[in-house]
Amino acid sequence: MPDLLLRLWSRVLPYIDAWFGRYTVVVVDDLPDEVQAHKLYAVGDSGQYWLAALRCPCGCGETIQLPMIEGQRPRWTLTLKRTRLPSLSPSIDRTVGCRSHFWLKQGIIRWCDGPQ
Ligand SMILES: [Zn+2]
Repeated sequence: MPDLLLRLWSRVLPYIDAWFGRYTVVVVDDLPDEVQAHKLYAVGDSGQYWLAALRCPCGCGETIQLPMIEGQRPRWTLTLKRTRLPSLSPSIDRTVGCRSHFWLKQGIIRWCDGPQ
């Protein structure tokens, strides 16, 4: 019975995440041409990711790519809560286009105050 509940829960969870606008992680070998909203793409394999990518949450439609290569700058770090809710560090501060500045914390976008 718990097994059935667990399976049911894992089917319902994506809808709950979507409802709350939470970002979830998708692990890919290569970045797809079409980057979906509310997904954080971790590019790499076996836990070694070299790139994170997401569609800009402001709605401008731009794809933001964040290098995660050790020893390089800038470099972002991805941590996962309960294996699916991503946090990125440091914040994402776009210097081009929409100039959005935000954090991704446990699957939620936290906008930074101040001039954009
Ligand atoms: Zn934007």
